Amino acid sequence: CGIVGILGTSLVAPQIVEALKRLEYRGYDSAGVATLNNGVIERRRAEGKLRNLEAKLQETPLAGSVGIGHTRWATHGKPNERNAHPHATDKVAVVHNGIIENFRELKSELEEQGVVFETETDTEVVLQLVSKEISNGRKPVDAVATVLPRLHGAFALAFLFAGEDDLLIGARHGAPLAVGYGEGENYLGSDALALAPFTANIAYLDEGDWVIVTRESVDIRDASGKSVDRQKYTINTGS
Ligand code: GLU
Repeated sequence: CGIVGILGTSLVAPQIVEALKRLEYRGYDSAGVATLNNGVIERRRAEGKLRNLEAKLQETPLAGSVGIGHTRWATHGKPNERNAHPHATDKVAVVHNGIIENFRELKSELEEQGVVFETETDTEVVLQLVSKEISNGRKPVDAVATVLPRLHGAFALAFLFAGEDDLLIGARHGAPLAVGYGEGENYLGSDALALAPFTANIAYLDEGDWVIVTRESVDIRDASGKSVDRQKYTINTGS
């Protein structure tokens, strides 16, 4: 339901939780954060309110200066910790808003190939498809570019990749996603409100766009893969 991604310069897990709090108004049943610790994906997830997630993070903090977070409003699969986002393999982590309408077909296809699913969510097909492309030797950008056209429905996505400390990829297909431009930091969020604590400079992805974000660059691509410019806005950060 709510998506946040931060390519930062210090510990991002607390910042991600702050941003998720600003998305609470949308409603949610569980929440989670994934970061990279020395290139390895680590995550904490919790059923219920963000304070449950905060309690877990306090007990066992997440290191790392790049990460993604999510507040979930379950559509497929019970609202429990196992189904909470981010979903992850050892190669990639993903958060997702919306619904992958053709997940049943994609799931049977993957299961026939021997993939074992860990959750009851529609989201996990996205995870397993991208993870498989990476296992087959594709770079993250090519893996996402290959998988996106296979997904039907209304969704927004954000990806984090093992061993890629300076990369996040976002995608918009029927659910909004904004990019925040910082100084040596960049951000992804479901809306400008989530990004207001970090930056006043944002752009919204257009329908079908996806975006390759590093700390120093934001490369928005249209559905055909061509780099495009999207209107930048200055938002009121309330400070
Ligand atoms: N369909 C996904 C799920 O049920 C995402 C729901 C959402 O937008 O939070 O896990």
